[in-house]
Amino acid sequence: MSGDAFAAYGARLSIDLDALCDNWRSLRGRLASGDCGAVVKADAYGLGAAQVAPALYRAGCRQFFVAHLNEGIALRPLLPADATLSVLHGAHPGSEAEFVRHGLQPVLNSLPQVAAWRALAGRLGRPLAAILQIDTGMARLGLDAAEFAQLLASADGLAGIELRYLMSHLVSAEDPAAPINRRQLADFRAALERLPGVRASLANSSGIFLGADYHFDLVRPGAALYGVAPVAGQPNPLRPVVRLQGKVLQTRRIAAGTAVAYSHTWTAGRDSRLATLAVGYADGYLRSLSNRGVARCDGVALPLVGNISMDTLIVDITDLPEGRLGEGDYVDLADPVNGVDAIAGRAGTIGYEILTSLGRRYARSYLAACRT
Ligand SMILES: *Cc1c(COP(=O)(O)O)cnc(C)c1O
Repeated sequence: MSGDAFAAYGARLSIDLDALCDNWRSLRGRLASGDCGAVVKADAYGLGAAQVAPALYRAGCRQFFVAHLNEGIALRPLLPADATLSVLHGAHPGSEAEFVRHGLQPVLNSLPQVAAWRALAGRLGRPLAAILQIDTGMARLGLDAAEFAQLLASADGLAGIELRYLMSHLVSAEDPAAPINRRQLADFRAALERLPGVRASLANSSGIFLGADYHFDLVRPGAALYGVAPVAGQPNPLRPVVRLQGKVLQTRRIAAGTAVAYSHTWTAGRDSRLATLAVGYADGYLRSLSNRGVARCDGVALPLVGNISMDTLIVDITDLPEGRLGEGDYVDLADPVNGVDAIAGRAGTIGYEILTSLGRRYARSYLAACRT
């Protein structure tokens, strides 16, 4: 395999934009009405917002969310004017005019953010669109119940603000049995009743799977678009989007009793063959996968042995036929069988963190492009 386009890289990461768009369509298909947006914060969960967001636009998505203003500024020129791009963190004091300049919509999370947005609308003499977030349990962002009441009680509370959605965020949506879901739903509905005619948005990916009660007018999936399982303990109905293939740098034979890699945390129990791959924790291949992760080749699971280094990891290839792998060959480090959730389980984290850790050193390729 020498001489291929990826020769200069230690691994290749394929991102399947058709699978991504299928996932968006399948989530939208669960809605009886209302819109399906897309959360593309953190560079589309590590997969590349510049590719992901336009692909989702072509699939029909018109509502996009990022976390930071700078993410919005970078993405806005890549989306047509009829796409709405909202910034979840809202407008930092003094940055309000930047939102207007760049055509971004803030999620207003506090009374000062509301006041500053209202003031800017007054200065400009025209209404400014925004989303208002209330806290129903996360205790993270958004107005608490008292602040919401205060806003409603003030005469000029939302003056000049074109309120596009009332929004809140679910705490434990991936667990349908969690009582907090219904409590948040009830509190959200009660708040919504105080703002007649205003549209609403509550569900993230997992929230969509809690059923129609949670859908309202706009859902905000992120993780499920990228193939993360939305319901804990249930089969994943979404398509895998990423495949990661690590390149073999060397193979070697070791005798039973030989210990490998930093700190010698693994010792061969039999005469073994090993392959050193050009992927390490600096690539986001988490060190917590040392002696726990698996690679795969021809359907054979190849255990990661020894500690993962910054730039390399070692797999036990003894169960593959002699000569099957040599320098420059690739083995799968993430594939449909060993997907982001399976890797996360072994690493002691969640699929979200596996995705957002995906390295910047990989040769990235984007498969296909969405059809409308
Ligand atoms: C990140 C985020 C989402 C998307 O959540 P997923 O679980 O990835 O679907 C939706 N809404 C808010 C407010 C978020 O911060």
